[in-house]
Parts: sequence; structure tokens; C-alpha cells
Amino acid sequence: MTTSKSEQPAIEGWFEGSGGKAYLLGSRCKSCGAVSFPPETFYCKNPACSGSDFEHTPLSTRGKLWSFTNSCYKPPAPYVAGDPFVPYIVAAVELEKEKMVVLGQVVPGVAIEELRVGMEMSLVSAELFSDEDSSYTIWKWQPAGAVQEN
Ligand SMILES: [Zn+2]
Repeated sequence: MTTSKSEQPAIEGWFEGSGGKAYLLGSRCKSCGAVSFPPETFYCKNPACSGSDFEHTPLSTRGKLWSFTNSCYKPPAPYVAGDPFVPYIVAAVELEKEKMVVLGQVVPGVAIEELRVGMEMSLVSAELFSDEDSSYTIWKWQPAGAVQEN
């Protein structure tokens, strides 16, 4: 028996993260090199490509804040929300290299007034929920200036 819970991603194969660090896993088409997130498994998004063979590829862990909103309603099932529900901010961030927009929650403790479109954001891993044995993690965005060194 261990006393500490094991960390595992709440969504298998979309990201890797532990100890506060996280990176998203996209897919790269082996035929044309197109990168997608969430990862593709069946068909290439490139309409000119008939590729169906993909490899996982880590994506940028930073990007520019493209848009954001606060969510004050408890999302319906199957989403997992805390009880009592705590409002959170959802950010759409354009990844530095891939120029894809990826949605994610903003870490708790960041006020919506602190966010500005165009500001630099970085990816962290944070607990989504836990059970007796495991802590299930998800990626979240936080202002890059607030990144903690650990
Ligand atoms: Zn392709």
C-alpha cells in the first residue's frame, strides 16, 4: 500500500503531465505531416491527404491568449464538476508553434480581470478529480508570468 495517490491523466492519450508540468499530445500524419489536436486516429484533417497513420507528438506548452470567458454554471453530465461548484475561467490559447487554438480551464486563483487577450499563457497539469487510489489530472492554462519554478 502506498500513502500517496498515483497521478494519471483524466483523458488517456491527450496529454502527459505530473507534478505540475504538462504537455498536450497531438497527432502527426505520417503521410503529410499535418498536426492535429485532439489527436486524430482515423482520418487526416488535410482534405488533400488520404493518410490514416498517425504518431503522437508533443505540442507547444505555451501560447497566446486568444479568448476567454468565465463559466458560472455547473456543466451537465458527463462533465465532472466539483461539489459545491466553483466557477472557473475557460481560456482559448493559440499554441506558439502550431497556431492551433486549444481550450482549457485557467488555474484557480486567477481573476478574470488579470487576463488580457494576447498575453502569454503556459500549460500546467492540475487535478480534475480524485478517488481513493488516484488523482486524475487535466491540463490547465495559467499566465506565463505566474509560472512557479519547482
Ligand atoms: Zn495527412
